[in-house]
Amino acid sequence: NKSAEMYQVWQQDKDHYIHPWTDFSTFKETGSIVVEDSDNVHITDGDGNQYLDGIGGLWCVNIGYAREEMAQAIAEQIMKVPYYSCFGHHTTVPAAKLAAKIAELAPGNLNHVFYGCGGSVANDTAVRIIHFYFNQLGKKSKKKIISRIDGYHGSTYMAMSITGVKFDHIGFDIDEQLVHHISCPNPYRRPESQSIEDFCDEKVQELENKILELGPDNVAAFFAEPIMGAGGVIVPPKGYHKRTLDVCRKYGVLYVSDEVVTAFGRLGHMFASKDEFDIVPDIITCAKGLTSGYLPLGATILSDDIYEVISKPQAEGALFTHGFTYSGHPVSCAAGLKNIEIMERENLCGHVQEIGSYFEEQLKTLMDLPIVGDVRGKKFMVCVENVANKESKELIDPEAQVGNRIADHCQKRGLIVRPLAHMNILSPPLTLSKDNVDFLVSTLRE
Ligand code: PLP
Repeated sequence: NKSAEMYQVWQQDKDHYIHPWTDFSTFKETGSIVVEDSDNVHITDGDGNQYLDGIGGLWCVNIGYAREEMAQAIAEQIMKVPYYSCFGHHTTVPAAKLAAKIAELAPGNLNHVFYGCGGSVANDTAVRIIHFYFNQLGKKSKKKIISRIDGYHGSTYMAMSITGVKFDHIGFDIDEQLVHHISCPNPYRRPESQSIEDFCDEKVQELENKILELGPDNVAAFFAEPIMGAGGVIVPPKGYHKRTLDVCRKYGVLYVSDEVVTAFGRLGHMFASKDEFDIVPDIITCAKGLTSGYLPLGATILSDDIYEVISKPQAEGALFTHGFTYSGHPVSCAAGLKNIEIMERENLCGHVQEIGSYFEEQLKTLMDLPIVGDVRGKKFMVCVENVANKESKELIDPEAQVGNRIADHCQKRGLIVRPLAHMNILSPPLTLSKDNVDFLVSTLRE
């Protein structure tokens, strides 16, 4: 019953658009749902069906959909200066203002902002800057990166190498010389007999062992998300981040906190590193919630110490030769400024603190269902893990496609949840109401 125009769109998409992250075998059969309209926490498809978007686009539509004042801010900037290069000694008003605003919000002495177009590029940039930083210091062997199994850091070559979700590497290549993975601090999957404290000790020690194995003179940085998102919303044991940061400091290894999902309100803070986990990393990468997905923008935020080293005159007369045509795009930066203004004016972090706690509580009620093994996460970043056996935590046969089937059933009932293997992930817009939470949880229960 698609209208003629929507049918044509559906067909054009199926015939010509290579979708990211797609199972082409099913795509070629079913094509796409055309998202045609949106409002606050809802999206509407080409057939006029409305859905509560339980995943906020892709963990990113933090202020909710279709905000008039975002459209105005974007349009006004386009009519003023739609683009200018920021290479060298030019800038634009929004690029400068947003950098200052990010520096004000970021923890500690993270006061310097480099812009790219998204999270992957923010992480790639972090690696390039870290290498440049150690070259500048004359520590030319310090190049290796350590990250975690099930960490997700993006889809460029380098960001995917840092990513530790093994499934995502199948069929593609990664840089195994440069990047080394340690295990995932997933408390749910720890041995039954192990205390959470011992588990934390083991994971922290594993990082130290890896640095020693590779040689501290060869290790440049450790990358970690505050809460691992696409790896299954994994909240590490208490103290893990602080203690891994201490290990990094001990060996002169830079700590990069990938806050692409967690920054700008998802956990009820502008940045989660300091406010949720009490650490001040050396570098924070962010994207998504920075513009709430209205336009592409990512940022790599550097400490004063790193900036001082990379901005010194270069020994060999080289420039800081890193940057993109769209670094600091004025329209994206204008969207970022307006987005943050809305978040602050409406106290969306406060709203997430309040409704997010209710959301967590209500989702936990699903634990009485026979297939729900774990409900975890914080505030507006949560996950339901389905298992074959709650006691043994045995996995459901992947052939059963349980995550996909739950997502399909939810969709039929007007709710979008994200399937991830045997899990379902939720990361709704931060404007979610209590009524929305009730609908979401009761639909999942059904
Ligand atoms: N880092 C994290 C933690 C992410 O979740 C993502 C994307 O989901 C990325 C990096 C990559 O961001 P992007 O898709 O904007 O390149």
